[in-house]
Amino acid sequence: MKHIVELVLTPAQAADVAYVRMQAMAEVGVAEADVRAVVQNRRSIDARARTPRIRLQCEVYVHEEPPVDVPITSTYRDADPSKRVIIVGAGPAGYFAALELIEHGITPIVLDRGKDVRTRRRDLRAIQQDGVVNEHSNYCFGEGGAGTYSDGKLYTRSHKRGSIAKVLRLLVEHGATRDILVDAHPHIGSNKLWLVVQEIRETIRRHGGEVHFDAYVTDFLLANDRIHGVVLDNGTEMTAQAVILATGHSARDIFRLCVRRGIDVETKPFALGVRIEHPQPLIDEIQYHQRPRDPLLPASSYSLVCQVADRGVFSFCMCPGGLIVPSATAPGEIVVNGMSMSRRDSPFANSGTVVAVDEDDWVDHRDHGVLAALEYQAQVERATFAANGDGSQRAPAQRLTDFLDRRVSTSLPATSYIPGHVSVDLHGILPVPVLKRLEAGIRQFGSSMRGYLTSEAVMVAVESRTSSPVRIPRDRTTYEHIRIRGLYPCGEGAGYAGGIVSAALDGQNVALRLSQTL
Ligand SMILES: Cc1cc2nc3c(=O)[nH]c(=O)nc-3n(C[C@H](O)[C@H](O)[C@H](O)COP(=O)(O)OP(=O)(O)OC[C@H]3O[C@@H](n4cnc5c(N)ncnc54)[C@H](O)[C@@H]3O)c2cc1C
Repeated sequence: MKHIVELVLTPAQAADVAYVRMQAMAEVGVAEADVRAVVQNRRSIDARARTPRIRLQCEVYVHEEPPVDVPITSTYRDADPSKRVIIVGAGPAGYFAALELIEHGITPIVLDRGKDVRTRRRDLRAIQQDGVVNEHSNYCFGEGGAGTYSDGKLYTRSHKRGSIAKVLRLLVEHGATRDILVDAHPHIGSNKLWLVVQEIRETIRRHGGEVHFDAYVTDFLLANDRIHGVVLDNGTEMTAQAVILATGHSARDIFRLCVRRGIDVETKPFALGVRIEHPQPLIDEIQYHQRPRDPLLPASSYSLVCQVADRGVFSFCMCPGGLIVPSATAPGEIVVNGMSMSRRDSPFANSGTVVAVDEDDWVDHRDHGVLAALEYQAQVERATFAANGDGSQRAPAQRLTDFLDRRVSTSLPATSYIPGHVSVDLHGILPVPVLKRLEAGIRQFGSSMRGYLTSEAVMVAVESRTSSPVRIPRDRTTYEHIRIRGLYPCGEGAGYAGGIVSAALDGQNVALRLSQTL
């Protein structure tokens, strides 16, 4: 018989497997001889008390063996070469769509404009150290997509969109630690995620799928409202029975191509703001009431949200123990984002702090029609680049308290952002409606989180790629584009996901629906 018990333990007790086992058995009231296994299936941190506690949910198997984990990958069969689907984009949406197609015996042909996950690292170094942005290989483009050199946070609220458990199990089967199956806020870390991505590629290829890098899609083969394939920048035409378009929120050329080729797209609200970085020990002190924190506790995080003048102001994509990274996808723009390693051991805590923006904000760009939001986003990124004045990836920055006092910082604290900073009053860069709400929102955050408002915190501009400014509309049931037969918009770029797991879920869902038609 299986019993489920909840334990509330100190970090030291929770780290002691034998102690956890004894406590779980005591909670059920069974003798050790009757217990076949104690399995931890949920772990979260409760930092509300003066001393943080670990909450563990355990399954205690009495006179019964725990179920055997059957690997999902073993059910893959070799794909049928006569059933071909092109997937544009090797991000989480594209790769999980490819795995799902293989499960249904369909051959995925994955095309990505960037490089394989290992080679891609050279281009990331070039951005970090020399400020050189490769338009095809950067923090957003290349194998694994935007999710690869990220925090690898796997938390999502998209519980109704599919089986999160299946996504997590596939990640484990491709090399992620089993902890992600247990932690309430799982993350993998940039140093490990790329290895998982590489393994997924091998699974795709092993079962007959194809994965091509430096495969930049510049046109679609369209006839009579049906897509037959794609054209690469070198003129190569590739055909298939269907095309899954999973190019992410930064593929502006794809959105422009859709408009040029008469493929319906829609404007979509997104969010805009900055990264705010604090010293990690300060956040630990606020959240855990400890300095230094107990080494058995992970770097602490926060989640802040408020409403200012009818708009949401919120923290986003928090990276405890992480780094701020340059995430531009073209020269002449500055975009920042956050990532961390699996140990989350940098001395900094950063999070996006953003304001929801909508059609009132891009009214000056309405000449661009459905791409008005995209052009507004691009213009803010160019203004951020122009503000640094030297053509590098040095990001405009300001101490949090100086921002509220509207004065240029005379000095900036050390930060994790490798290309460096330039001290600028961000009021000269960000749009006024965003600035006003950011100011009010940050003040509210300061009153709800004592210690947050400090001159030790720095704001770094601009956090603009929070989600796609464009949606590619599709049928709710079939997931096919509303007009173009055989085209399946997918993932974050199409406006149906926001984050690694939701993009992966969308990839699975799209591939499942599509497989039913072939
Ligand atoms: C630095 C950073 C950190 C992040 N951290 C997290 C995190 O911790 N947790 C989280 O959930 N989310 C995080 N995100 C967001 C997350 O990465 C995205 O939500 C997710 O990757 C979206 O998946 P996708 O497959 O829809 O698109 P993407 O991952 O954007 O993949 C799109 C792919 O399409 C390719 N492509 C684009 N245009 C073309 C073309 N014309 N031809 C061929 N290929 C093309 C690109 O090269 C890219 O590989 C982070 C993002 C960044 C940039």
